[in-house]
Amino acid sequence: MWHCQEVPASLSPVRQSGVRAHNLALVLRTVANSADPPSRAAVAAATGLTRATISTLVDDLIAGALLTEVGPAPRSGAGRPAAGLRLSPDGPAGLGLEINVDYRAACVVDLTGSVRHRLVEKGDQSLPAVAGLAHQALLRASSDGLTVAGAALAVPGLVGAGGIIRVAPNLGWQDVTVGDLVPGLPLTVDNEANLAALGELAAGDPPASFVYVSGEIGIGAGIVLGGELYRGVRGWSGEIGHIPIDPGGPPCRCGARGCLEQYAGQEAIARAAGDLTVAGTALGTALATVVNLLDIDTVVLGGIYAPLVPQLHDAIQAEISRRVLTADWSPVRLRAATLGADAAVRGAAGAVLRGVLDDPAAWLSRIQAV
Ligand SMILES: [Zn+2]
Repeated sequence: MWHCQEVPASLSPVRQSGVRAHNLALVLRTVANSADPPSRAAVAAATGLTRATISTLVDDLIAGALLTEVGPAPRSGAGRPAAGLRLSPDGPAGLGLEINVDYRAACVVDLTGSVRHRLVEKGDQSLPAVAGLAHQALLRASSDGLTVAGAALAVPGLVGAGGIIRVAPNLGWQDVTVGDLVPGLPLTVDNEANLAALGELAAGDPPASFVYVSGEIGIGAGIVLGGELYRGVRGWSGEIGHIPIDPGGPPCRCGARGCLEQYAGQEAIARAAGDLTVAGTALGTALATVVNLLDIDTVVLGGIYAPLVPQLHDAIQAEISRRVLTADWSPVRLRAATLGADAAVRGAAGAVLRGVLDDPAAWLSRIQAV
């Protein structure tokens, strides 16, 4: 539910700028959430703001290349048809970056959610190599006339305050500072499963609460509750790969024994040579714990699991049915990630764009300052 506020003439300038920022975000979100391009009058009706206020805000958003006008919006009544409003494909874009054990990726996504450029390279997983890929992506964005608003980097590890990568066991990294990876651009660093869950939330139309499980060399999970990513107290939630399956099992890179990764990580899947019963059973056992704890009814399988859902499904469901008390009358749905292997890098770009959509006033003052 949005709160709608007009700006009374008596407000102080500081207060007025706060209300203007709020209203800009409100108008932008109203347009973004509309199925068809709404007219200014329709935005006024939806927000409760006056048409004069809407016109000023919309003009500012158009000037900042956040909105664009398209042909007349459909209308049933008499009178001149009004132009419709939609998000601009030619304004700010998000740069998503991903570094993983066997590849690095970059993608440029515009405000409408379209992927404008996508680059994936195998081999060198160093930060300079990711910086090189980012540079190539920026050149392509620039040749399209896009302005990249910021970058987000997805990493297979635990990210601490200030974007320091505390540990990425499968990259062999500990306490790595990313630094000025993309000169001149704001950069955030986040766990790849978290960003993939956000990517899936934006593109895949899942329910508001779900767990996204990312299978790579390691296994991570992004927990989305009520449409928001649940990061945990220190941002380190979702380490599903180290849920114990057998306390006496094979040693894990984390120092413990019998973790899920030893049964259902990429290396275990490769060793299984097509028989995925062990992996599916281990995944189902871990997911039953997650479902019992969080009371979610949808699990999205991504990374290497996305194309393997048909082979993994029965073994996972068998364990969930056996171990989740409520499964008999409230089944848990398993589905493949809509974005497949691109979920994390798309989610990273989307996180940048979400920042712009949430605070368009900041974007407008940034481009005015240039
Ligand atoms: Zn472990």
